[in-house]
Amino acid sequence: MYATKVSEKVYLLDTYALGVPGTVGAYVLKGSKPALVDCGYATSYETVLEGLAEVGVMPSEVRYIIPTHVHLDHAGAAGRLLKEMPGAEVVAHERGVPHLVDPTKLVESSTKVFGESIMALYGRPEPIAAERVTGVGAEAHLDLGDGLTITMIHTPGHAPHQISVLIDGARLLLTADAVGIVYPDLKALIPTTPPPSFHPSQLVATIAVLRQTSPGMLLLPHFAARRDVDWVFDRTTELVESWVEQVSRMKKRHIGLDQAAASMQETVAAEAGVEDLPIHAKVSVRTSVMGIMHYLEKNA
Ligand SMILES: [Zn+2]
Repeated sequence: MYATKVSEKVYLLDTYALGVPGTVGAYVLKGSKPALVDCGYATSYETVLEGLAEVGVMPSEVRYIIPTHVHLDHAGAAGRLLKEMPGAEVVAHERGVPHLVDPTKLVESSTKVFGESIMALYGRPEPIAAERVTGVGAEAHLDLGDGLTITMIHTPGHAPHQISVLIDGARLLLTADAVGIVYPDLKALIPTTPPPSFHPSQLVATIAVLRQTSPGMLLLPHFAARRDVDWVFDRTTELVESWVEQVSRMKKRHIGLDQAAASMQETVAAEAGVEDLPIHAKVSVRTSVMGIMHYLEKNA
């Protein structure tokens, strides 16, 4: 089973990224015009189709694919899925649209971050025809039918073109990567601050904007539903600030990426009370440390 019911008309799909459960999620909003919010890596597209079948949505019925941002774990499968979904269009922030239409630069920059071998596992996103993508700005609304309407809110910081999705009247917020990662098997939050465009003060401001929506439940892509809304918001803000400080200190002492990442991995493992982190958590920590270093270099 890949799908879990979150609430009336809202389902979590576990995309089993690289075969690992509980790491990369997507959400199905099942109005009469169903929407898929995020869709996993390119190599996860078959899992997403199976998950949709579990919740009774045929690919031909899907009307919207809404990647919260263009990173490969959120939008990677969109181009491939569209081939199975003749009635679907993509809705994304206007600054992300060029990367969906022509993913060349995105693939280049992701390869720099993750390396060729990991990129092969993630898969390459397929380009999306420009006429199938609609760009949105600071705030946009979409009617998914059956009384299900959503508000898409621009939430920069993790990426400049990120949106989060609020399900109107339900106090349910699909956060995207505006909040940290909380893996179900690990009692720790990992700030998600990747290269090339992480921006700390924008991320902290985004959290404040999201708080204003007074959500009763957060739906995280990494991973699943959280009712401890204040803790997730507070901890994300705290750790973004403290990680930038810690990495900055290490950088001043000329500590390189590998050692800085190892040090932060130890910190997270200690917080979670485990000897060693699972590989997906190690990759998350390393990517976040890399993003902070990149930010510090750009703003030195
Ligand atoms: Zn992500």
